[in-house]
Amino acid sequence: MNERFSYPADREARNAARVKALESLLIEKGIITSGTVDKILGYFETQMGPFNGAKIVARAWVDPAFKEKLVADTPAAIAELDLPTGMAGAEGEHMQAVANTPKVHNLVVCTLCSCYPWPVLGLPPYWYKDPTFRARAVREPRAVLKELGLELDPSVEIKIWDSSAQIRWFVIPERPTGTDGMSEAELASLVTPEAMMGVARAMALGAKTA
Ligand code: FE
Repeated sequence: MNERFSYPADREARNAARVKALESLLIEKGIITSGTVDKILGYFETQMGPFNGAKIVARAWVDPAFKEKLVADTPAAIAELDLPTGMAGAEGEHMQAVANTPKVHNLVVCTLCSCYPWPVLGLPPYWYKDPTFRARAVREPRAVLKELGLELDPSVEIKIWDSSAQIRWFVIPERPTGTDGMSEAELASLVTPEAMMGVARAMALGAKTA
């Protein structure tokens, strides 16, 4: 790996220690209580998470008019579905969906920090916040995707979307082949957070990874 992308191997553990210290300090100063962080994490594990995004994508797969609207006016399309209230709330403001096609693959990154559409994807995984991923995703996306297990044909164009507080992007992956008879709920079960970040394909169950 290029030297400019090298970071200490223990950076994740170091960051975790830093977060723990910060949380302890906030509790000690009376700014939050010991239950605050757990409460917020619980909310984003049970109410706001990738299961919402999966429902949205599954609807887009079965309803072309909805898909068109989802890309044209993402919040308005999402508001049509039966999802928890607050989809356009914290970290869900200005969400924008982009659709993969056989010729175009979309990849989402936040080069500045970790902006992410929490209501549809939940909390971002560590690697999304990692400086190495953020730097390399825009410089050598094809290589990064390959390392993550997604090898794209050289003819496929990669578009990279830089999430920010102004726009939080998510990807509508392509509907896997061999899923014609599936219900919307079954289809939703095939949609992973990784597919909605553009680092994986949505796969039919039992299908082999490329
Ligand atoms: Fe950010």
